[in-house]
Amino acid sequence: MTYTIEKVATLIGARRYGEHETTVGWLLTDSRSLCFPEQTLFFALRSKRNDGHKFIDELYRRGVRSFVVEQEPADYQTAYPDANFLKVPSPLAALQRLAERHRDEFDIPVVGITGSNGKTWVKEWLHQILMPTMKVTRSPKSYNSQIGVPLSVWLLNEQTQVALFEAGISEPGEMLALHDIIQPTIGVLTSLGSAHQENFRNMDEKCMEKLQLFRDTEVIIYPSDDDTVSRCVRRSQYQGERIGWSRYSEKAPMYVKTEGRKVSYIYKGVEGSYEIPFIDEASIENSITCAIVALYLGMSPEDLAERMAKLEPIAMRLEVKDGQRGLTLINDSYNSDVNSLDIALDFMNRRPDQEGKCKTLILSDIYQSGETPSELYREVSDLLRKRGIDRFVGIGPEIMAQAAQFTVGQKWFFANVDEFLQSSVFRNMHDEIVLLKGARPFGFEHISELLEQKVHETILEVDLNAVVENLNHYRSFMKPETKIVCMIKADAYGAGAVEIAKTLQDHRVDYLAVAVADEGVTLRKAGITQNIIVMNPEMSSFKTLFDYDLEPEVYSFRLMDALIQAARKEGITGWPVHLKLDTGMHRLGFDPRHDIDQLIDRLKHQTAIIPRSVFSHFVGSDSDDFDNFSAHQFELFNEGSKKIQAAFSHKILRHMDNSAGIEHFPERQMDMCRLGIGLYGVDPRTNGILSTVSTLKTTILQLRHVPKEETVGYSRKGKLERDSVIAAIPIGYADGLNRKLGNRHCYCLVNGQKAEYVGNICMDVALIDVTDIPCQEGDSVEIFGKNLPVTVLSDVLETIPYEVLTSVSNRVKRVYYQD
Ligand SMILES: *Cc1c(COP(=O)(O)O)cnc(C)c1O
Repeated sequence: MTYTIEKVATLIGARRYGEHETTVGWLLTDSRSLCFPEQTLFFALRSKRNDGHKFIDELYRRGVRSFVVEQEPADYQTAYPDANFLKVPSPLAALQRLAERHRDEFDIPVVGITGSNGKTWVKEWLHQILMPTMKVTRSPKSYNSQIGVPLSVWLLNEQTQVALFEAGISEPGEMLALHDIIQPTIGVLTSLGSAHQENFRNMDEKCMEKLQLFRDTEVIIYPSDDDTVSRCVRRSQYQGERIGWSRYSEKAPMYVKTEGRKVSYIYKGVEGSYEIPFIDEASIENSITCAIVALYLGMSPEDLAERMAKLEPIAMRLEVKDGQRGLTLINDSYNSDVNSLDIALDFMNRRPDQEGKCKTLILSDIYQSGETPSELYREVSDLLRKRGIDRFVGIGPEIMAQAAQFTVGQKWFFANVDEFLQSSVFRNMHDEIVLLKGARPFGFEHISELLEQKVHETILEVDLNAVVENLNHYRSFMKPETKIVCMIKADAYGAGAVEIAKTLQDHRVDYLAVAVADEGVTLRKAGITQNIIVMNPEMSSFKTLFDYDLEPEVYSFRLMDALIQAARKEGITGWPVHLKLDTGMHRLGFDPRHDIDQLIDRLKHQTAIIPRSVFSHFVGSDSDDFDNFSAHQFELFNEGSKKIQAAFSHKILRHMDNSAGIEHFPERQMDMCRLGIGLYGVDPRTNGILSTVSTLKTTILQLRHVPKEETVGYSRKGKLERDSVIAAIPIGYADGLNRKLGNRHCYCLVNGQKAEYVGNICMDVALIDVTDIPCQEGDSVEIFGKNLPVTVLSDVLETIPYEVLTSVSNRVKRVYYQD
């Protein structure tokens, strides 16, 4: 659906500058996602850290002609002669208003989904369940914020028969705004976890806030065994129908009994049952929520059971993998619709490593679009052109019939995957970035299996979204103007410095910090342009610093003199350095009581280097026990660093807080903070887990029955007390699995259950006890990560999580995920 610019101006109550007549089909808030410039309306949003107005010039040059702004450019008539500027007090509010008016046009069931966990999951599964018979519009990915929700609602179109929208909040008061935009008719509350708790006084307050989404719905669906939820639903004076589901109360509108993968239920007196292809608790609970919505919408228990049995794992994220022959593979073969295609293409274009590589899309027939094939593939072809696809492979009879519609540089069509795999097109693929996007029945996994590099069975999975979530968690303690240094020393605490740096660069952190110059060089070679601090510059590495634009920490006069010498030799002046003061760690640094005058004097009498920042490091910001000492450290630093600043006319950034400090001493954040362990998911103050970044996984190589009294492994250490089933897994101390975890001191997870390490851990293999766990060879094993916090291991080892994370050796392949 499109609106004229005139209509949009009226709907959002804007004053219009410029008279270019055009229509609006696409809304844009992030300039990097631009696709159809002529029909795009850009909202210049102002956030704490960014101002959309800065991108107007660039977007205009790229063809955008319509802008919603707080302030029209002064010279708009001459600089942007054929553009429209719609002036409003708040572009964000205007975006929300426009979506709201668009929503008003539709009289269809709209499912509003909220809850702390499982929103995206429930939405995607509901989509799978409803899709065969209804045209569904849903939030892309997990677009559930104040910006994401309006962009989702905007996708409603004439074909939509039912809509599924997520709503997420992090602060009190946000839900009402989302309610007005979504105007749900069916309310779904998935579960109430403890995420985003910090902004709410207690669970009840958070729950009541979430229920705001449902105030005018005809029905709400919720887990009534959760006391908080039940209490809040009662207190909310909600007037519509309530469908709580329960495992205990037979009187509940949805009474369920579960056993393994099977769910039996009595829904409003009607009995039914289904099985899903997953066994974990979260899957079961999410399926129950989906079942109620489907039954409520009138689906028969038989149809429901049939579709439940076919549920597919949801692709919450696009997988990126190294392929053979220099290929990079992006696998997105779970969804197949134009929207998710656009998202995947955007993702492909944003990958920093794509430069110079040819871009290839392999696409199957798209099902259930509601459009005629010729309309649909014209749209797809348009998209490919705008997103810069160089090579295109279409697979399937329908897409083949539309071959003439495609205008990309090189194109090939095949009736099925087999024909493609036999072709020279397949055999000749090399050094390309390849997006695989195929509807399930086409079996695109055969393509990816053949193209993927065979990886070591033991991998460290790194969730890049979690890194961003953790970054934002810490940013929420910081003033908007406070700068941030992200510590990616020690290969980003084991997670892999290059990919982490790319992600952080994309999220505009101010500095990256590495331990040694070589780590900085690796980043530069990978295309990282961000400022980089080297914490421990070796005397032998100065030339490298200059060549690769790396800024050293300076902690002693000896180092400083050598650096000045080296800079002079190269004819360098004004090289930025970061001065470290020793306020109590007694590791490295200038003494703030005795060295400051000399330091200033030395700096003033040369021009080779220039202090960019001055900092110190807390000894124990993670524990209240050291609060007095921390205060003493801060005082010493404050005094010394102010004296240095006073001696120079340029701004010198002062910083002291590390992860724990940001949270514990936000008042000491000064100009900049240094974020380390928290970024990687461990809260250093509570040892709790934020969003898990790294998951170390392996697979079962072999299972064997070993009788009672036998022993397992070297030195006959693992004596068995009963007849046992023992699994061998390909991970040992050479991979970073500490030997002290062996002999039942710790466990890993097999199908969600604890499996102890038996006997001594070997160099490359470990043995685990799976006697009571249903499993088979090839099953996945989690060493630590999403379901087994790394702190469980570090506690057993009597060490800190930092050590466990950084011990995962280089031979363990890192695999990255991202939405
Ligand atoms: C590693 C490091 C940090 C980060 O510490 P975390 O506890 O991981 O947040 C901050 N500052 C300096 C100087 C560091 O070496």
